[in-house]
Amino acid sequence: MLAAVMTLAVVTALPAAAADFRIVCSFYPVYLHTLNIARGLPGVTVVNLAGAQTGCLHDYALTVAARKTLHHAGVLVINGAGMESYLDNLRRQQPDLPVVDAGRGLELLRDAAGAPNPHLWVSVAGAIAQVTNIAAGLAAADPAHGADYRRNAAAYVTQLQALRTRMRTGLAGLRTRKIVTLHEAFAYFAREFDLEVVGVIEREPGSEPAARELAQTIDLVRRLGLPPVFAEPQYAARSAETVARATGARVYRLDPAVTGADDPGAYVAIMERNLAVLREALGAAP
Ligand SMILES: [Zn+2]
Repeated sequence: MLAAVMTLAVVTALPAAAADFRIVCSFYPVYLHTLNIARGLPGVTVVNLAGAQTGCLHDYALTVAARKTLHHAGVLVINGAGMESYLDNLRRQQPDLPVVDAGRGLELLRDAAGAPNPHLWVSVAGAIAQVTNIAAGLAAADPAHGADYRRNAAAYVTQLQALRTRMRTGLAGLRTRKIVTLHEAFAYFAREFDLEVVGVIEREPGSEPAARELAQTIDLVRRLGLPPVFAEPQYAARSAETVARATGARVYRLDPAVTGADDPGAYVAIMERNLAVLREALGAAP
């Protein structure tokens, strides 16, 4: 018994930095990427800072608990492209915290006001680029595991490339390629798979559109011959249902992969479900 206690004392006396590396991820999509990149590495832990149910970070501010988590982080992985609006403040408050920007160097789509669209991960190509960026950033922040991060990332990228091929094949030859979405989450996705987002119902997800905006969307859906309307599981479908009721268009659910299972395979599973929904909604050849 005494021997065991003494062994424990020796172990805890080792420098903590060599044994434990704590990766904090800003929210679910980059958390999923990182779970794959750090998979099976003893002494490396991956944390989802925003928690499992937060969704997109559009109106997110750091909580007291999140700030505490960041004080024990070895590195912070962010989506970038403006998704983490707290970043500038955080850099001032914790200037020594290394930050890995998954969106670094990626080409960004912008809205009419010039603001970047941050939903890079929703396209599979965007997810692949983010995984590559994160692996390089983690290898720099934690060189002891550099080769492991790169090897895991390469294996995951192979899975994502296969997913992309399945989606390309599955979305070829649809009867229509026009979609109406709830918020701006599918811009990169639509570009990748040659879909056309003809309407977006809510400028800010979760905030009800003004009556005039809703009327414009309803008018547009009628004129375009009732393209399917896609709600999102993270937000109330009320406004999408209003459009559908007024026009007779059907409502489906498309998942931007911002909440879900705590599982490295979750992103691929979500995209497979999106593929099936799109094939049904847009009239795939059997
Ligand atoms: Zn969003």
